[in-house]
Order: sequence, then C-alpha cells, then structure tokens
Amino acid sequence: MTRSLDIIVAGAGLAGSLLASLLAQDGHRVRVYERRPDPRRSGFIGGRSINLALSARGRAALEAIGIRDEILETVVPMRGRIMHSPTGETSFHAYSADPANAINSVSRGDLNLRLIDKAASMPGVTLHFEEPVVDVDLANGIAMIQHAHDDEPRLEKADLIVGADGAYSSIRGAMQRYGGFGFSQEFISHGYKELVIPPDQHGNFAIEHDALHIWPRGASMMIALPNEDRSFTCTLFWPREGEGTSFESLNAASDPRVFIKNLYPDAVDHMPDLETDCRENPVGHLVTIRCDQWHCGPSTVLLGDAAHAIVPFFGQGMNAAMQDCMVLREQLRSHDGDVATAIRAFSRQQKPNGDAIAQLSFENFVIMRDKVSSPMYRLRQRLENWLHRLLPQHVGSVYNLVSFSTTPYADIVGRRARRRRATRGILTVMLGLIFMAIAFSVGILI
Ligand SMILES: Cc1cc2nc3c(=O)[nH]c(=O)nc-3n(C[C@H](O)[C@H](O)[C@H](O)COP(=O)(O)OP(=O)(O)OC[C@H]3O[C@@H](n4cnc5c(N)ncnc54)[C@H](O)[C@@H]3O)c2cc1C
Repeated sequence: MTRSLDIIVAGAGLAGSLLASLLAQDGHRVRVYERRPDPRRSGFIGGRSINLALSARGRAALEAIGIRDEILETVVPMRGRIMHSPTGETSFHAYSADPANAINSVSRGDLNLRLIDKAASMPGVTLHFEEPVVDVDLANGIAMIQHAHDDEPRLEKADLIVGADGAYSSIRGAMQRYGGFGFSQEFISHGYKELVIPPDQHGNFAIEHDALHIWPRGASMMIALPNEDRSFTCTLFWPREGEGTSFESLNAASDPRVFIKNLYPDAVDHMPDLETDCRENPVGHLVTIRCDQWHCGPSTVLLGDAAHAIVPFFGQGMNAAMQDCMVLREQLRSHDGDVATAIRAFSRQQKPNGDAIAQLSFENFVIMRDKVSSPMYRLRQRLENWLHRLLPQHVGSVYNLVSFSTTPYADIVGRRARRRRATRGILTVMLGLIFMAIAFSVGILI
C-alpha cells in the first residue's frame, strides 16, 4: 500500500478517466477536472475520429481496472488489412501469423463514457465537468480552475497534478511559460475528413467487416474501420492544399461524388450521404507534439496526447496514453508516494517510448498509403510472419510487437535497429564470400 496522495487530473478523456480509476485503486484521492460538459448527461461531443483501434496496451490497461471484457463485447475485431486497388480489386493481408491476434475497432465516445462511469464508481474519485484547469503554479503544486459560471478561477492544491488534457494542453502551456521546458509542435501537410458507409439495405455491413480497409493511392489514402452498428467510418488522409488529390481540390470540385469515385470506385456507391459528409465534416489537423521531459516542478506531470500527440497511422495514440497511465501508477507505487522522484522516473522511462512511437507512426503512414500495395513489401511481410511462426521467441515483426504486445516502443525500435545491423552484416559476409568464390574460380580458370 503506497502513501495516499491528493491528486488533480486535468482532462476526463481516454487517459484521464482511466488514470483516475487506476490511482483510486491504490487508495489515492483523485479530483478530475474536465473542460467539456458531462457526456453522461449531454452525450459525447466528438470532433475527432469516431472509432479507434484498441490493441494490446489498451486492453492491458482496461483489464487493470476490470472493464476489459465489457469493452471487448462492444468492439469489432479486425484480423488484417483489406487493400482496395484503383480498379476495385481487393486482397486480404493478415496482421499476424496467429489468427487469434486482431486489433479492435471501438467507439471513442462509448469507451470514454464507460471509463468515466468506472471512475465515478470508484471511492475517492470526484469528477467535475465544465471546469477546465486553466493554469498551474508549478513551484507550489496549485491548479487554477475556472468554472464556467464563476468570474474568478479557484485555486486548488494537490500533492500531484497530472496533465491528461490532450494535444493542446493548458498544463503544458504553464510548463512552457515556467522556463527550461523544451517543446515542439509539428503539423503535417495532410489533414483528415470522415465519411460514412452505413449498413446495407438488409442492415448488414456493406463491405467485409473483420478487417481494416485501405485504399492506398501513393501520396494519399482512405481507410475504413467497422462500427458495432454495422456502419464503417471512412477517413480520407489527404494533403490539405495543392493540385490533384487534396481537400482544396475537393472543395473546388463541381461534383464531390465524381471526384472521390475516380479514386475509390468500389467505395462510393456505398456512401449515400457522401455529399453531406463532404460538406459538413471538418478537415482535422494532424499534429506531433514532443516535450524534452514530461514533468516540470516537483509535482506536475504530463501524459497521453498532452505529452506526445502523434499522427494516427499506427493506431497507437490512445494505446500509448493508456500505457502511460499504467507506468505512472507503477512509478508512484515503487517510490511509495515520493511524487518528485516518481514523476522524474516516469518521464525518464516514457519519453523514449513517446519518441519511438512518434517515429513508427510517421513511418507507417508511408507504409499504409504507398508500400502496402507493393509486391516486395507484401513478400517481406509474409516472410516475417513465417519466421515469427518458426521462431516466435526471436522474430517478431514491428507491427506485431507494437500491436500485440506491451513491449516498450523504444525497445521495439532498438530491436529493429539491431536486426537491420545483423542483416546488413550477414549480407556483407555473404557478398564477400561470393566475391571470393568468383575471384578464386576466375583465378583457377586463368
Ligand atoms: C483521426 C485520428 C484517429 C485516431 N485513431 C486512433 C486509433 O485508432 N488508435 C489509437 O490508439 N489512437 C488513435 N488516435 C489517437 C487518440 O485519439 C489519442 O491519442 C487519445 O485520444 C489521447 O487520449 P488523451 O486522453 O491523452 O487525450 P484526449 O482524448 O484528447 O482527452 C483530453 C481531454 O482533456 C480535456 N481538456 C482539454 N483541455 C482541458 C483543460 N484545460 N482542463 C481540463 N480538461 C481539458 C478534453 O476536453 C478531453 O476530454 C487517433 C487520433 C486521430 C486524430
């Protein structure tokens, strides 16, 4: 049993609401302050992707608070990718040699609601909606909270303040003003827009439901994830501006249906509301946030998107955020409530993992929009799956380790670098031997 702490969590999103339950399990008193209205009363106000891919790290965290099985009843498992060619042919590619391995499409709103319900049921947790944390006195561990109906913000002291307030975090803003806190924010030139494939006329999925669908088109792509109600949420990842495929060109097109049909001929006929979706659904920005450290002052720490927002191409932002929550709890346990030491250790442990998954997510964009359609890439993937079946302890593809294990992301990147060095070494030796053999036989012949 660790020393019981007074903790403030900013944000009741996916990370903040999970963290509240995890910390309450250890006997801490947790006050959660959320900027938005209570979704249990007002419904979930989204604004970002409607469904998310839940994989091993997220599942492990949900298991820790006892709601994994309840959530798994609501998901649609996806065992692999279905690729759609420009002429409408499809091909299936399993994610893993083990058919039991699947990533799970889960509703963001429903998951967040269940996490909030769980937190609300825990002794020691209080949840406050429409009360954002607007600033933090980092030296003294005091949060400034603004209630929508009050003129003056309220000051609240805590042993630990956690910024789980997303990519545009106010807690991080306070850290940036504190001095000595390095931070970068990088937007990619692509944005995203969501479209819907509703269930067909019989109420069934209109396309194969047990896979993530990809329409790779070089510099851009569309993906589709199945929903529990048998619809699909499709996401266009396109350049925001420019000639050719871009949101600027789509806006200028006289007929968006024709524009999109030229790219994804087999999808458009399943989209009766395409014109409305194109007009009404906004183009979202994709940002990567990096911080030199995730803590500042003796008692304030960031996690989830507040510390490391990443582009969504590996489907890991939420999974990484949930793993952060588990690691922070472990550090508080091992330092018996010594907050300053625990958050320093947490930052040291997780920062390399945040950097690693940011890198892998960028790389996966190129893989998804371009490489997945190359025969060489598919051959390599089959080879990796085959080697994994043969030597499961020694060979795991990056995708498998990221999605189907809880191995720290930095270890995965490190392993890959070592494997590449070893492969290069073996190739060099083999080429050397071939060269020597040729030289020797030529010498004999001469
Ligand atoms: C298009 C897209 C697709 C994605 N797909 C996937 C996927 O398939 N799998 C996956 O794992 N991840 C995915 N992600 C990433 C995932 O959405 C995020 O990583 C995840 O939401 C991070 O959780 P969080 O709790 O840190 O932040 P958020 O979910 O952003 O929650 C932050 C919360 O803090 C609140 N808040 C903000 N400011 C304040 C304040 N000052 N005070 C109090 N509260 C505040 C917000 O209202 C919000 O409720 C995707 C992201 C995008 C954009």
